[in-house]
Amino acid sequence: MINDYQTQKTLREDYDVCIIGAGPAGITLGLRLAQRGWRVVLIEGGGHEYAPRSQELYKCSSSGLELYAEETRLRFLGGTSNHWAGRCRPFTPSDFAVQPPGELPGWPIPYAEIEHYLPAAMDIVDLPQGKDFQALNGGLKGGDFEGDRFLLSPPTRFAQKYATALNETDGLDVFINCNCVDLEFDKASGSLTSVQVSDYDRHRQRLVAKHFILATGAIENARQLLNSQSLSEAGVVSRDGLVGRCFMEHLNIDMGTFILGEGQDTGTHQYYTTDAFIAEYHAGKGNVTTSVLDDVRTYGRTAEVKYFLENLACEMGVASKIAFIANFSCPGDGVIGTMIEQFPNLHSHLSLLDEKDALGVGKVNVNWELSEGDRHTIKCIGSELAKQFAEMGLGFVKLHDFVYDTAVPLKIQPHAHHMGTTRMAATPEFGVVDRDCKVFGTQNLYVAGSSIFATSGASNPTMPLLQFALRLADHLDEKMKSTRKAAV
Ligand SMILES: Cc1cc2nc3c(=O)[nH]c(=O)nc-3n(C[C@H](O)[C@H](O)[C@H](O)COP(=O)(O)OP(=O)(O)OC[C@H]3O[C@@H](n4cnc5c(N)ncnc54)[C@H](O)[C@@H]3O)c2cc1C
Repeated sequence: MINDYQTQKTLREDYDVCIIGAGPAGITLGLRLAQRGWRVVLIEGGGHEYAPRSQELYKCSSSGLELYAEETRLRFLGGTSNHWAGRCRPFTPSDFAVQPPGELPGWPIPYAEIEHYLPAAMDIVDLPQGKDFQALNGGLKGGDFEGDRFLLSPPTRFAQKYATALNETDGLDVFINCNCVDLEFDKASGSLTSVQVSDYDRHRQRLVAKHFILATGAIENARQLLNSQSLSEAGVVSRDGLVGRCFMEHLNIDMGTFILGEGQDTGTHQYYTTDAFIAEYHAGKGNVTTSVLDDVRTYGRTAEVKYFLENLACEMGVASKIAFIANFSCPGDGVIGTMIEQFPNLHSHLSLLDEKDALGVGKVNVNWELSEGDRHTIKCIGSELAKQFAEMGLGFVKLHDFVYDTAVPLKIQPHAHHMGTTRMAATPEFGVVDRDCKVFGTQNLYVAGSSIFATSGASNPTMPLLQFALRLADHLDEKMKSTRKAAV
């Protein structure tokens, strides 16, 4: 049943599981666990629709590369699935087997641990069962790039698709406009005892449960942990510890342009680095999309220059005109876009600020940084693609200087894939959650979503994070069953 916490303060006292955040991860976990017979409460900070009073709670500052952290997340029922694009690509065994460069280890589990959840995750995002992830085009000769294999979800809007289930599943209480504002940890038992929830009038209440799952997205998952005074007093979280560290994005880089070879196909092509490429260059993975511009908005650079000069006196925005002319791509030119893996890096991190939001939760600063390893990946992908493209006669590539010259500042955009702030590791020295997604140093606090990613690969994160959510539901179900058996 979906209740509005702003007007209905009807929380119960006997929940088995409290899930914080009703995006793809939280909704999946809530339904799965309630369907297994557990008493579950799913709390969502936003309402049924977008509202500025909720969205403003996502405001954060940025001291590194610009992340657009407020614009690339949505804070209402269904979370960011309300505007995701639906591109799905599964992880592969090598994502889990290859160690990233540097001090930090990769995944502490093999791919097999989540592989068997793929059909269920595909079903959740409405991908046809049994349909393989196929490449729409072939690879490049030379063995470094194969055709990328992906499928497109409609895209599934979780709040709409699961509206009836959220309202009618026995054992599931959903509260909207119900914000988690504090996590209350008891050092003696090593357990989270409750969370403080708040409506928009700052009316606070204690919500008690046996187990808790944070599913508020990668920035907020870390923010909630950093904000909890009781977790920091107990030493579970510390400001210079790993919570909030290793923030990763997929690197969205305009690599340059190309002129299509004589008689070549004008369609868009998507390539993906092969495992052989990763092994040879010790680089990260990446998707490269090549497309020919067919959007003819003008009749060429000279027409623009003529118009510009004719209208110089009355035109505003001279700087943008000059930039347009300088960067003009002729119709028929090709552009090269990317979605590239970023390696885990301690310097790319979130930190808690003294300033509080309207509900009294500490705000965060995001310092998104790239490492030398990331620049190496960009350079290898760009230069090998350019070579192989030319060798096959597909076209002539002109890379931007920053691709191969690391002294030139990089032009980069985010992909809105936030990952890695509560990374999974075998030991607390290298991560925040263990193999079961449980926060190290606690008995009953779990994390769901792409914040647990130890490495990011170059696969879109939502379907894989659903595989992990399904695995966590199975783990908790087993754990709670054995606790109940032991108590009988
Ligand atoms: C424009 C865009 C396009 C995208 N396209 C793709 C794509 O093609 N493929 C892909 O795989 N991914 C894509 N993504 C990423 C995708 O949207 C996310 O991976 C996914 O939504 C993450 O799910 P989540 O449940 O972990 O977090 P979210 O969807 O962010 O949900 C978190 C939920 O927690 C709630 N919440 C936050 N704080 C609190 C609090 N204190 N108390 C209670 N509730 C709280 C929020 O309101 C929200 O409902 C895209 C993202 C954007 C922005």
